Amino acid sequence: MVTRSEILVRGIVQGVGFRPFVYTQASRLDLRGRVRNNTTGVLIEVEGNHGDIVQFVTDLKANAPPLSTIESVECNHYLEPADYSDFAILESAYEADDIGGDEHFVPISADVATCDDCLRELFDPQDRRFQYPFINCTNCGPRFTIIEDIPYDRARTTMREFEMCAECRAEYEDPLNRRFHAEPTACSVCGPRVFLSEPTALAGGVSASNPPAHAGGSDNVISAARGLLLSGKILAIKGIGGFHLACDALNSEAVERLRQQKYREDKPFSLMAASVAIIKEHCLASQEEEELLLSERRPIVVLGRKSGSTIPRAVAPGLNNLGWMLPYSPLHHLLLKGLDRPLVMTSGNVSDEPICFGDEQAVNRLGKIADYFLLHDRRIHMRTDDSVTRVQGGRETVLRRSRGYAPEPIRTGVRFETQILACGAELKNTFCFTRDNYAFISHHIGDLENLETLRSFTEGIGHFKRLFHLRPEVVAYDLHPEYLSTKYALGINDISTKIPVQHHHAHIASCMADNEIDGEVIGVALDGLGFGTDGRLWGGEFFVADFVEAERIAHLVEVPMPGGAKAIREPWRMAAVYLQQTFGDEFLNLDLPFVKELEPRGWPTLRSMIATQTNCPETSSMGRLFDAVSSLIGVRSQVNYEGQAAIELEAMADRDCAQSYEFGIGGNGKLIEAHDVVHAAVSDLLSGTSPSVVSAAFHRAVARLIATIAEQAREERKLNRVVLSGGVFQNQLLLRQTIELLRRSGFEVFTHARVPTNDGGISLGQASIANARIKLGRI
Ligand SMILES: [Zn+2]
Ligand SMILES: [Zn+2]
Repeated sequence: MVTRSEILVRGIVQGVGFRPFVYTQASRLDLRGRVRNNTTGVLIEVEGNHGDIVQFVTDLKANAPPLSTIESVECNHYLEPADYSDFAILESAYEADDIGGDEHFVPISADVATCDDCLRELFDPQDRRFQYPFINCTNCGPRFTIIEDIPYDRARTTMREFEMCAECRAEYEDPLNRRFHAEPTACSVCGPRVFLSEPTALAGGVSASNPPAHAGGSDNVISAARGLLLSGKILAIKGIGGFHLACDALNSEAVERLRQQKYREDKPFSLMAASVAIIKEHCLASQEEEELLLSERRPIVVLGRKSGSTIPRAVAPGLNNLGWMLPYSPLHHLLLKGLDRPLVMTSGNVSDEPICFGDEQAVNRLGKIADYFLLHDRRIHMRTDDSVTRVQGGRETVLRRSRGYAPEPIRTGVRFETQILACGAELKNTFCFTRDNYAFISHHIGDLENLETLRSFTEGIGHFKRLFHLRPEVVAYDLHPEYLSTKYALGINDISTKIPVQHHHAHIASCMADNEIDGEVIGVALDGLGFGTDGRLWGGEFFVADFVEAERIAHLVEVPMPGGAKAIREPWRMAAVYLQQTFGDEFLNLDLPFVKELEPRGWPTLRSMIATQTNCPETSSMGRLFDAVSSLIGVRSQVNYEGQAAIELEAMADRDCAQSYEFGIGGNGKLIEAHDVVHAAVSDLLSGTSPSVVSAAFHRAVARLIATIAEQAREERKLNRVVLSGGVFQNQLLLRQTIELLRRSGFEVFTHARVPTNDGGISLGQASIANARIKLGRI
């Protein structure tokens, strides 16, 4: 007997070849019916023998296309047959109500690296897309960066400006073609083109109708660009989510010049190589790291540098790691084809500004840095930086979550009854929306310290609201009154429920949500700075916490931070403070190179600032203690990017040293004193101990401190789960030692994986806490 079933598939099922897949599955079982996208997912009607329909549903789940994620399959069986004569794929049909409505939403795929099928065609001289730099299909290509609105159809992407030629259209409309409804599909006849130009020639603007002088066949343009790179030129290259600045990574003169012109004195540059083999000439890569490099997300993977590497030090000064990625767009593949050397491919921005993504903006901002521009005329709608990840303890840990990851929602094990907008922190900002079972964490926005980044933040929020039909009823924000994200939250007029969340509590909650755990835990939040509930600047914090509350059970004893933000940029100030705290003013008699430099640096002024408590906010920050030790040892007195002193302190630590200093714990186990650590470090330095040993002994002291406080908390509270979060845990040496000690002591340890341990994870923590408080009515 013939029956009909309606099947609704939810999840990431649009723009990933799901309808052709459904068509094939149905045809195989000789089922008739219809499939179409709607604002909830993919809606299927099938008609035939009920046993075959059940088989069809099983097949759907078992064989779903590689880029899809099925969240649920709802079936409505035994309906009256509609007497379909075939199985047809329908255009995305949306009822007028659906489009503006809030009821439904469909997750959107992130941008996906070029697939193997497309790569084969790209390098096949017989293929009509041979060497076409914008080749893609339903399994690969740009998505989030070109989507202007939903439903995901070509007309709502930046590809709408290119009318398909007859051949492309035929493929696009053929349900059995692998480009069936591949929205960004194109070819050299009808699609985007590349141009190579000097900056001066671009002054009048760039457009398809006004191509610059060097436009030509894409193969000529790209080989000319490669030639320029090999001759030492700096190129601004338009990519998927923005511009890169590129040069030959083995040409130290070019690297130095790029560094100077970008005003990026020391921040590491990322690298791109044609193959894993080239990367392995310079860095060690485990099986997991290799898989991550090759994954369709194509993040930058941070790898340990080999001692024999010929990459100039100027690529990543003071570090023994390098960040690598493999080509992820066809343009990259063509540019790097056959290239035996890596390229520097760093974000196309000036200093700390966000990455450039519009042509004119890029020409204006990067015109003085780049010798040439390699452009194309496909617009980028949403800027996204490259994501940065690494492998920690055998699993991926995301350090910057952006291209290839965003806007894919994260499941946290929690159901969000209310839609929440969490505005995040100041540095490495992300925002986060919640809806149903999802947390939509934004792409990396950057440091909210200038207007351009703030614009990126507010536009990003608007875009997410549109894409996912979000209408938040609650806004969560950081306690810091000066954060631009806080000011934004407080300035929203149409949401009355606003929930402030303490920064370090948000860190712990973020790591709990990342690991899908709930209930009380021992939380260790170590970072640079965050606003405390007592109005002081926290950062060396131990809690007993859950999603609702955080009780501060121990913290570093506060010290003055003379000059406020200036003390962050000048770690010598923190070193002087810790010496004074430990030895009194007698510290000036210590026979250390550091002490001798204090007078000219301005210690007398600092001293009176401390004495009169002028512009000396108090802080319990662990990040600042790392700064102090780094400066004391002579590693770094001034920093050119956030965390630099601590990062270089880690890099120089003797990996084989088992020595450790010891923190003092007073105030009934609540107050952590650094005096003993500073004292021991000074004695070692005075007796000629190598700074690499001092660094190692300091790292181990922090790891042991964490274990000691955790053991104390276990005894008092009967808790056995320890959650580690905060920017300080980007320090791999510290993290590894801490995990080791805690596990040896029988603790269950949770660290970050899907969201960053730094402030990029704060928005998820804020959202999780707000959600828990709403459920309890504690707002
Ligand atoms: Zn493809
Ligand atoms: Zn075409």
